[in-house]
Amino acid sequence: MSEDPGRADLDRNFGRRMNKKLADNKSRSGGKPMIGFRFNAHFKPPTGESALIRLIPGNYPTFEGGRAPYFEYVEHYSDRCKRTFICNRHYKLVDDKLKGVGNCVSCYERDNGAKDVSFRPLYGLLLIHLDFFYLIPAADKDGKALIYQQDSKWHKTGDPIMNRVLCSDAEEDDPKVRRAGYEKVFGKLEHWSMGSQHMVALTAKTADLEKECTCGGKIDIPLWTCAGCDHDVIDVQSDPELWTPKKVREVTGGPHECKKCDTNDFLNPNYDCSDCNDPDPLRLWDVDLEVRREGEGTKSMLIIGRHHAQKIDERVKDLIPTRDILHRVFVGDSHQYQSKNLRVKNPFAEEETRRHVQEYDREQREEPAVDDELPY
Ligand SMILES: [Zn+2]
Ligand SMILES: [Zn+2]
Ligand SMILES: [Zn+2]
Repeated sequence: MSEDPGRADLDRNFGRRMNKKLADNKSRSGGKPMIGFRFNAHFKPPTGESALIRLIPGNYPTFEGGRAPYFEYVEHYSDRCKRTFICNRHYKLVDDKLKGVGNCVSCYERDNGAKDVSFRPLYGLLLIHLDFFYLIPAADKDGKALIYQQDSKWHKTGDPIMNRVLCSDAEEDDPKVRRAGYEKVFGKLEHWSMGSQHMVALTAKTADLEKECTCGGKIDIPLWTCAGCDHDVIDVQSDPELWTPKKVREVTGGPHECKKCDTNDFLNPNYDCSDCNDPDPLRLWDVDLEVRREGEGTKSMLIIGRHHAQKIDERVKDLIPTRDILHRVFVGDSHQYQSKNLRVKNPFAEEETRRHVQEYDREQREEPAVDDELPY
């Protein structure tokens, strides 16, 4: 690529153009620098051809008090400043209602009657976007190259910060980018936030996947047992007329109260594989998934296409963080940041000068910034 004779007339402004574009996105999306994992690595299913992704499961607390592979949080959107904020409260589901604990400027506004601040629980997922990306040096709004301020596993102090820009997007923006000599890499770690409608579409896929074994065989579930005492609750073969697929779905679709041990939980599926003795049904994390979107915003539809059962691509293995990061990516936006953008006086300012300083400081020190741990 670097020997391309047309290289002389390449667009030398491409990097700057792209940075401007990212900076413009920034002022639309939140006003924080776009450099950084939260703003620069946001996955949105494309509306044209599907994107190929690999979901990476985490282990996070849920609002219900359990654990899940996704991260649940609350997002506010305000028409006043056309911005979203991550809520600063911590939530628990109590009597089927979300109860928030802690201070949040957006919530304070809502509690005091603001009609222009929305409230939306979201699910955050981590994924590897399986495609080619250009490494393009990042710059601030004045065009000054951004560099790392400290050493990490991935970079040294002074190394240039690189944006990973999807090749197909960059080329569509400017065909000359092909000749610009940017390094091309495969895969990008991204996060994906979705509302419950998209989550429904994604989880619907699990029913398909459960019919396939990791060995390639076909999976059946002839038996469902109590999670507490292991006794047989649904033995499909014992009464095929009673246990129609519909009836099985009904009983297994929610918690089942066991008359023997009083356990009230989902039944355990007992798998049978056509090809092996160690049935292991595919899960969302075992496949590369084709995803796309139809429509925009809250009215958009998530379309899950084909899945490809295979080991994770060797080229992207190193991109997977060694520990959970989404709770740090989606940490609540500070009171100061929210109040400044909402153009209100920070209602918690006094309290903060007293307490926040020590606590906030401690929190910050306990865990390194997410960006320092990621391969950018
Ligand atoms: Zn809030
Ligand atoms: Zn039981
Ligand atoms: Zn099998």
